[in-house]
Parts: sequence; structure tokens; C-alpha cells
Amino acid sequence: MILFILLLLLLLVVQGYSHSFLKYSLFFSSFIGLVIVIPFAYLLARFLTQPIYDLTQKAIQLVSSHSDQKMTLHSREELRMLSKAIDEIGIQLRNKIDETSKERDYLQAILKGMAEGVLVVDERGRILVANDSLHQLLSLPKNLANRTPLEIIRNAELEEAIRKVIREGKHVSFELNLPLPLGKTFEVNVVGILPAPEEKERGDEGIRGAIAVFHDITRLKELEVVRQDFVANVSHELRTPLTTIKGYTETLLDGALKEEVAPQFLQVIQKHADRLTKIVEDLLTLSKIESKEFYLKWERLPLSELIDDVLDFVKEAAEKKKISISQSIIPSSLEVTGDRSYLEQVFINLLDNAIKYTHEPGEISISAIEKGQTEIQVAIKDNGIGIPKEELSRIFERFYRVDKGRSQELGGTGLGLSIVKHIIQAHGGRVWADSKLGEDSTFYFTLPKQSVAISLPL
Ligand code: ADP
Repeated sequence: MILFILLLLLLLVVQGYSHSFLKYSLFFSSFIGLVIVIPFAYLLARFLTQPIYDLTQKAIQLVSSHSDQKMTLHSREELRMLSKAIDEIGIQLRNKIDETSKERDYLQAILKGMAEGVLVVDERGRILVANDSLHQLLSLPKNLANRTPLEIIRNAELEEAIRKVIREGKHVSFELNLPLPLGKTFEVNVVGILPAPEEKERGDEGIRGAIAVFHDITRLKELEVVRQDFVANVSHELRTPLTTIKGYTETLLDGALKEEVAPQFLQVIQKHADRLTKIVEDLLTLSKIESKEFYLKWERLPLSELIDDVLDFVKEAAEKKKISISQSIIPSSLEVTGDRSYLEQVFINLLDNAIKYTHEPGEISISAIEKGQTEIQVAIKDNGIGIPKEELSRIFERFYRVDKGRSQELGGTGLGLSIVKHIIQAHGGRVWADSKLGEDSTFYFTLPKQSVAISLPL
């Protein structure tokens, strides 16, 4: 249209030059032409800019609904307002994207940092996300997308729990036992993913999926079994001497007191009372070492001096069985850092066993050497009955005995080596044994030259 007007004007001008006599009449007719064309041109321009105007209105509405800033549109401001509105939308969009990626980073950091395993499934029960902990705990394959938990973890109980949560939207909690080779127990909590508030407003109440959190309680379960076994063992250990004491006391009260056997009965009662006392003492020592209040009185101890003191305790028992005890400390000035009374207890328990489980006449040797820059290794060797190879790893367990009858006969409680292990570990050392059945046994332990936890309270 503009082109048409320009052409018309051009025609008028050209005509004006060539026909000057018609100048005024032509000027008049041009003016009339313009009066007719301009409204048309305006209407056409309006028709063309209307979509831009509408677009601008929509953009302004969009911006206004996301910010408090209200905008009004005046005529002829369309393009300026449109560009302003687009800028505003751009800023808001960038902020939204930043916010969303920040939230995603937080979520990923939380999932990565969690010790618990997390599994997220969609509303069809297909896996969306499994965090690193879950991969490690269950040794999962890398690609899980779109697969069901049943395919991956092979547990019908878990699959059913997830389906139930998606169906009913209720929280489900259960204990999951995964058999060997995994051999793990988990406490699993499954919750539904609820629809967002906007979706709820639209009347969409359906569950979006489920999140299952796996808490590894294998160690707890093992400790529970250990505790139950321990209580059963203690009860059993206490019952035997108690039953004997009760039986002999009743017999004495029933008239045996006046008979010749009475002193023998009393000796049996005394022996079992001593045994009870020893068990209770050992149990108290163990519970003290395991208690939170347990601490060591660290001091520098010349090893030869410590061993000499201990030998005074066991000399009599060794002499009775004609067992010689030799010692070799290289260098003789070797010192350890530790708690004197607890380290004495370690030596006493090990020497006591060496004497108990060695036939007379026998030999015991104590040796100590430096191991590297930081450790001292002590070995106590006897030429006694020895320990079967397959039982060497178990003798440090509470109440574990190779030959229970023999141990009880010799006044053992089955707790001596357990106490040794705890004391050495508290000093930052290690303890182990080596043996040839029927020939010899050697018990080794290490101690740090310097205190490992010198800051412990004295
Ligand atoms: P106990 O009171 O029965 O001696 P310990 O915990 O001290 O309990 O030792 C556990 C078991 O290890 C003993 O019952 C015994 O079977 C075995 N044992 C320990 N020391 C020796 C040793 N020097 N020679 C042979 N067997 C040993």
C-alpha cells in the first residue's frame, strides 16, 4: 500500500513538470487521493500490528503473573513493551533454570552423601534412580533405568511393598533379608511420591511413584545374635558351679555334714565358688574394657621390668609343673608405652594358659623385638598340647574353648584370651596365635612404641 502511495505521488510530480498548466488542478486531485488512501493505510497498518499488540499483551500478562510489577500497554508502545517483556521473561526463565539446577545439585549431593540406599520408582514401578550407596550395598548393575526392582533385587516382598505404596499411597516398613552370597539384612521404608500442589488443584490425586530407603542393619543383627549367645553362655557357665554348690550344700544339710565326706564336699563347694568368682571377675573386666568410661593410664614401661613383675605371679604354678620360663628382650632396654596393670594382665593370662596347657616338664619362652620404627612384637611360646589350625581364629572369642572339659578342669573361664584381645586392641596393637597341634603354641602381640592415644584422660 505504501508503495502504491509513493508511486501515485511520483506520478503526480512527473505530471506536474510536464503539464504545468494543470498544476493546481493536479495538486488538488493528489490531495483528494491522499485523503482516501491514508485511512486505508492506517487500517492496514493496524491490521498488521494487531498480532504484535496481542503478543505484547500476552507477554505482559505472563511477566505480571510472575512478578509484582504491573505493566499497562499504551498505543504505539507495542514494540518497546514487547522487547521489555521478552527481556523480563528471559530473566525469569534464567532464574528458574538456576533455581532448578541448584535444587538438582542439592538433591544429588544428598543422595550421594547418604549411607542409606535409596531407590526411586515411577508410577509403573520402574526404576528411575538408585543412589551410589544402594549400588554398593546390593552390588547392583550399572544400568537400571526402566527395569523393575524385582528384576534387579529379586525379592518379591520388596516388589509387593512398592506396588502397595503406589496403589494405596500408604507408608510401608519391613525387614528385608537377602540370602547369601549377599547375606544382608535391611530395614526398608517405602513412601509414595505425592502429586504436586498444582496437580492436586487440578484434581489429579494419583501417586507419582515411590521412594524406598534401605538401612543396612546386618551388623546390628549380628550384634544381637552375639549378645543373645553371650547371655546364654554366661547363664550356662554360671549354672554349672551354682548347681554343684546347691547340690552339695543340700546333701550336707540333709545329714552328710556329720559324715566323713563332709570336708571333701566342702572343698568341692569352695572350688566351684572360686570358679564363680573368677567368671564374675573376668566378666567385670571385659565389661569395664568395653564401657565408655574405659581409659588407659599411659606410661613408659621398661619391658624387662614389667615381665619380671609378672613372673612373680606365675612362678609358683610353673614350678609346680616343672616348667621353665626364659626371656629374651632385644635390645634389653626395650620400652613400651601402655597401662601397667592392663599389660600385666595380658602377660598373666597368656603365661597362665601356657602353664595350664603344657605337660610337665615343659618350657616357656618370652621374647620381644622391635618391629620397624613404631612397633614392638612380643611372643610367648610353649611346648604344650597345641591348638588345631582351624580353631586358631576362634580362640579369642568369649567362652570359646578347644576342649571345654579340660579348660574347666584347669580352672579356665574361656574369657582369658578375649580379655587379652580387648586390652591389646585398646593399646592400638594386634594379637594372634600360631600352633602345631601336639607340639607347641605361640601367642604374638604388638604394642606401639609411642602411645597411640596419649590424649586419653589419665
Ligand atoms: P580358658 O580359660 O579356657 O583358658 P582362654 O580364653 O584363655 O580360656 O583360652 C581359650 C582356649 O584357647 C582355651 O580353652 C584353650 O582351648 C585354648 N588355649 C589358650 N592358650 C593355649 C595354649 N597356650 N595352648 C593350648 N591351647 C590354648
